[in-house]
Amino acid sequence: MFFADRKLHGSHTNLHNLSEHASENMKLSEHELNNRQVIEHALANQHACIPAPFQPRFYEYLYQHTYQSLRHIHLLGQLAFLLYFFADLFIIPDLALISGLTRVGVALGLWLISELLFRHSKDIRLLDTIMPIATTLCAGIWMIMLVTSTSPHVANYLYASAIFLLIIHLSTKVQFKVSLYCSLFIGLFVLITMTQIMTLSEAFTFAVVLTPILLFSIYMNWTNIINMRRTFLRTLLDEWNYHAVRKLAHTDDLTQLYNRRHFVNLAEHSIHEWPTPSSSCLLMFDVDHFKQINDNYGHDVGDRVLQVIAETTRKEMRHSDVLARFGGEEFIVLLSDTQLQDALLIAERIRHSIQRQHVPVQENPPLQFTVSIGIAELESPSQSLDELIKQADIALYAAKRAGRNRIRVYRPEMQSAPSKTSQSITS
Ligand code: GH3
Ligand code: MG
Ligand code: MG
Repeated sequence: MFFADRKLHGSHTNLHNLSEHASENMKLSEHELNNRQVIEHALANQHACIPAPFQPRFYEYLYQHTYQSLRHIHLLGQLAFLLYFFADLFIIPDLALISGLTRVGVALGLWLISELLFRHSKDIRLLDTIMPIATTLCAGIWMIMLVTSTSPHVANYLYASAIFLLIIHLSTKVQFKVSLYCSLFIGLFVLITMTQIMTLSEAFTFAVVLTPILLFSIYMNWTNIINMRRTFLRTLLDEWNYHAVRKLAHTDDLTQLYNRRHFVNLAEHSIHEWPTPSSSCLLMFDVDHFKQINDNYGHDVGDRVLQVIAETTRKEMRHSDVLARFGGEEFIVLLSDTQLQDALLIAERIRHSIQRQHVPVQENPPLQFTVSIGIAELESPSQSLDELIKQADIALYAAKRAGRNRIRVYRPEMQSAPSKTSQSITS
């Protein structure tokens, strides 16, 4: 019921639109409860698939948590690709010059492209594909060099292709399919290179070493991605629980209005916030002869009356108003940024709307009920909320003494002679 935007003198239609919005905010909606089930269901799922409504948040979460590490891995990968020039110098010296030029050219080109993408794109799916594609490209170029070289050591050097596979699978955070296809491409390149530079027995030994590395790294990649999804879903669930607990702690169970404690917190903040509102008023209202309602019709009917009063009052509220159940059959409203004349109009509207409501009662005509309202106006920003509440309470009891179903505004004289000095605008 307490919202940041403050609208004074809202029209009736406006008030109703706003109050609808306000009521949405009050309880754990069906939609929210469903959300929890959807998250729990996804967590229990073997693949922890992220449900469609949460996917944009998932990608945002991944962007926040993996951007830096992706960038670092990228730079390290490029550095490693450049440094392997020294390995080329010893293992395939016949291609040292070509290797040097190619490595510098490719690393520079990839660095430029990745810098551009990392700086300008927030799409984690795109950023996550740079590494596998760049690595596949580098692996392809390197294997072309191996095939071209006349060095006797090329067959052994091909074992280094495992590094490309590991880099792809350990660096990919989201795009499992892309990393899988890229590693299959590398596998294909390796197969072709094997047939060119290895004997059959060398190829057999090589396949025995490389295949488990390929399978193991694919498996690691898949479990890392699933763990990432699970961590995200657990974070969502924690967030949901946090909000649910907060909401329950702030809400009165019967009426779904704010409870007293939360009202005090919000109202304290509202009347002492900076800049101080020009004027604020407090309404306190209490059901007339409620004990008789309970005694004559039972507690269930009494409870229903309280709910109807809560619903009716909520409909008369603006976004900036703070409405709460203050205790038993007492309600309280803080109207911030509201002059006394407007507070009187709002109070009268509440009183009148409640008077028009009725609750069905078995074998009896529908039950009607009324409230008495006390109003206190904040005199200065230094005045405490406690004092304001006390004044509204005094005015409320003045309204009771004056005959009930009416409104009274607090006056200092009320404490000694309440019924003579009070002001009434009701019937
Ligand atoms: P008055 O017009 O002077 O306010 O008279 P009253 O009978 O309304 O006032 P009183 O304070 O004597 O009675 C309040 C009653 O409200 C007593 C209490 O049992 C009842 N009550 C408090 N909380 C609840 C509740 O949650 N549900 C129901 N049904 N009754 C409640
Ligand atoms: Mg009462
Ligand atoms: Mg009472």
